[in-house]
Amino acid sequence: MTTERLSFDVVVVGAGTAGANAAVKLAVGGRRVLLLERRGADAAGAQWHNGVLDWQFDAAGVARPAPPERAPTAPRTHIVGPDGHYGVCVQDNPVTRADMALLGRRLRRAAQDAGVEIVDHVEGIDVRTGGDRLVAVEVAVAAPQKPPRSLSVEAALFVDASGRAGVLRRHSRPLAPWCPEIGGDELCTAADHHLRIDDVDGARRFLDRFGAAPGEAVTMVGLAGGFSTRAITVSADLSEASVLVGCLANGRYSTGSRMLSQTRADEPWLGASISGGAGLIPLRRPYARLSAPGIALVGDAACQVFPAHGSGIGMGLLAGSMLAEAVAGASDPGDENVLWAYQADFQRTHGGMLAAFDTFRRMSTALGGRGVGRMMRAGLLNENLVRAGLDQRWQVPDRAAMPAMAYRMARVPSVAARMLPLLARGQLLYPMGGRYPIEADVVALGRWNSRVERLLGPLPS
Ligand SMILES: Cc1cc2nc3c(=O)[nH]c(=O)nc-3n(C[C@H](O)[C@H](O)[C@H](O)COP(=O)(O)OP(=O)(O)OC[C@H]3O[C@@H](n4cnc5c(N)ncnc54)[C@H](O)[C@@H]3O)c2cc1C
Repeated sequence: MTTERLSFDVVVVGAGTAGANAAVKLAVGGRRVLLLERRGADAAGAQWHNGVLDWQFDAAGVARPAPPERAPTAPRTHIVGPDGHYGVCVQDNPVTRADMALLGRRLRRAAQDAGVEIVDHVEGIDVRTGGDRLVAVEVAVAAPQKPPRSLSVEAALFVDASGRAGVLRRHSRPLAPWCPEIGGDELCTAADHHLRIDDVDGARRFLDRFGAAPGEAVTMVGLAGGFSTRAITVSADLSEASVLVGCLANGRYSTGSRMLSQTRADEPWLGASISGGAGLIPLRRPYARLSAPGIALVGDAACQVFPAHGSGIGMGLLAGSMLAEAVAGASDPGDENVLWAYQADFQRTHGGMLAAFDTFRRMSTALGGRGVGRMMRAGLLNENLVRAGLDQRWQVPDRAAMPAMAYRMARVPSVAARMLPLLARGQLLYPMGGRYPIEADVVALGRWNSRVERLLGPLPS
């Protein structure tokens, strides 16, 4: 087999939402872009419905999903504890549900329109470095019914958008110390399925149990460890429901697929699956370093995920757009200083918020399922706080609400003892994003990172 030799300005690996958007924005900015994808056309990235936020699409310069990509959204979300105890109702839920397969296709079409060359069915990627800089990838392509091909592609910049696995990241020597492997305590095992409703009366009885109406969502938290959820949204016409389940992937609780089976056993009114999927989501704050000479990370490969509930679509879109903006006009888009501007911009704009909300994930883990239930019964889950979490925006504590919160906390001192230090750490972490070093300086970055690590504290068990 002969090897085709190619040269591009940028090679993006992974055509999920983060990679496809990065490819579009880089091509629109005048770069010659090659997009490599392991799966077939229209099968890249998430293939189920995800909750997304309009503000993140706007900020990333990506048109908001419109029907049919935009699915009907639950205006109200009822949050309940693991024992079914009612916690809080969030009105005007900011989260929109969108069909990721359709979003993926839209971004792929936009990439093609912008002149991005796309190669699917990439089977293996090897990297070639010059010193510490990535300079080329060797790619094996095995498309069905076509002879296997091999490509050798040089580029100034390689974007790792391959998801959690980070297929390029793991070959970059400068990134290695900053991008540790993620263990099960920092991974969410999740499943999301769209199902038919077989028994309308059963669905009505389920909604009645929580004072919910058709079209609304009931989210149970803390049922498989403190960090766990089972969100069921029933369509307004009672014909379909969506189920999102997830918990920590450390083997102590369950898996997304098992939680889905359990949900169907608990709620027999749910019928056959129409569409859906399952997978692992990184939950830690973004890696401290998102680039090195010749390489930039976006999306799950960079852990650009909202850690309090494992949402990565919006942050991945934002990252691709920020990367394209940072390299615009640069004679060498893989230059360390050019790429540092991307990571500094991302960390300064979103890193503090993401690190601060990492304390919420740690708090729910530390509380455990029983503690989360007690927190709910004590009335410590506040609608504004939940909405801020759903909207992925940090909220300064409401001084007027503090006396009531202090009174409630005093009634559950063991829960308060776990909550308060982490809430305080969140407040201290939020401004840390703005202190990310602007200039390329790994020593200053090391100091910043140690400070953030100290503020975050150890992972709760
Ligand atoms: C069940 C579930 C529910 C979720 N719900 C939500 C939600 O409601 N809201 C939300 O915002 N997020 C949600 N997430 C998380 C969200 O789906 C991810 O954060 C997001 O899809 C990450 O996008 P990405 O483009 O970075 O990576 P991915 O979507 O993982 O895409 C990576 C792409 O790279 C390709 N690839 C991998 N290796 C190679 C290789 N060697 N060569 C070429 N290509 C390669 C893959 O095939 C894939 O297409 C959920 C995740 C799961 C599993």
